[in-house]
Amino acid sequence: MPRAIYFTVTLRFESLLAISATYMSNCITHKKCYLSKEIAEDVLIETRTAFDYAPGMGPVSVYLCDECGYYHLTSKGPMNEKLNQYLSEGKIQRQKEANRWLDKFKKR
Ligand SMILES: [Zn+2]
Repeated sequence: MPRAIYFTVTLRFESLLAISATYMSNCITHKKCYLSKEIAEDVLIETRTAFDYAPGMGPVSVYLCDECGYYHLTSKGPMNEKLNQYLSEGKIQRQKEANRWLDKFKKR
């Protein structure tokens, strides 16, 4: 696997971990809060690439919360447009393959 891709994947993953850790809130839904729709969508796509979900399972979209004013992921409702686009273009599958390479690197 080319070095450049390896570093891109690593940096992206680390920045998302930082985002996830930073925007925890006290929302009554007990869900993680994301400051913007863009961040929430990024995390949604990242989550779908990091874990294997059975059909109909896992988060499919993001929504603006009435309680806290931030965005949350949800497993209900129609699929997010950006995620749908990624899935149909096969980007998720490619990212999964990249992640598998990353795992192999880490185990060494
Ligand atoms: Zn909320």
